[in-house]
Amino acid sequence: MSQVLLLNTSYEPVAVITHRRALSLLDRDRVVPACDESIELVGVTAVLKIPTVMRLRRYINVPQRGARWSRKAVLQRDDYTCAYCGVRAGSEQRGRVLSRTDMTVDHVLPVSRGGKNNWGNTVCACPACNSRKGGRTPHEANMRLLWEPKTPRVSYLVLSGDVPAVWKVYLEW
Ligand SMILES: [Zn+2]
Repeated sequence: MSQVLLLNTSYEPVAVITHRRALSLLDRDRVVPACDESIELVGVTAVLKIPTVMRLRRYINVPQRGARWSRKAVLQRDDYTCAYCGVRAGSEQRGRVLSRTDMTVDHVLPVSRGGKNNWGNTVCACPACNSRKGGRTPHEANMRLLWEPKTPRVSYLVLSGDVPAVWKVYLEW
């Protein structure tokens, strides 16, 4: 990983930037290091150290671009935890251990009733809650959401591959 994570003054991730851009921000004194880990760039005259996480000195407004919705992203957002009963993948249900692939995406307002594939209308649900709810609304099924489904906050960061350990604390949904 040869990139730098840029944080807002509030420690919210803003972007993943290149060394070059990181260097330019450092040069202009726009950022402060936010972790001890750094990457060394060997130049002609000197070795430059660039922190792998940097924080802006001044707050910037980041437009809330919508995260790309997908079933997998919903499960990740909810940490593979059922939004109705709170059971999490890895724990036991009806005598067997639930795996991540057992967890389903439930449409709060069912698709058959016009419910959409979007962040606000979808939650992770365990197989038991999913079948109990069926094609009904939570109200009709007498079920309650444990939390309100929301658009993930750090969604505008497009990350691929392994995320450095020092970034993880900032990237948790
Ligand atoms: Zn459940």
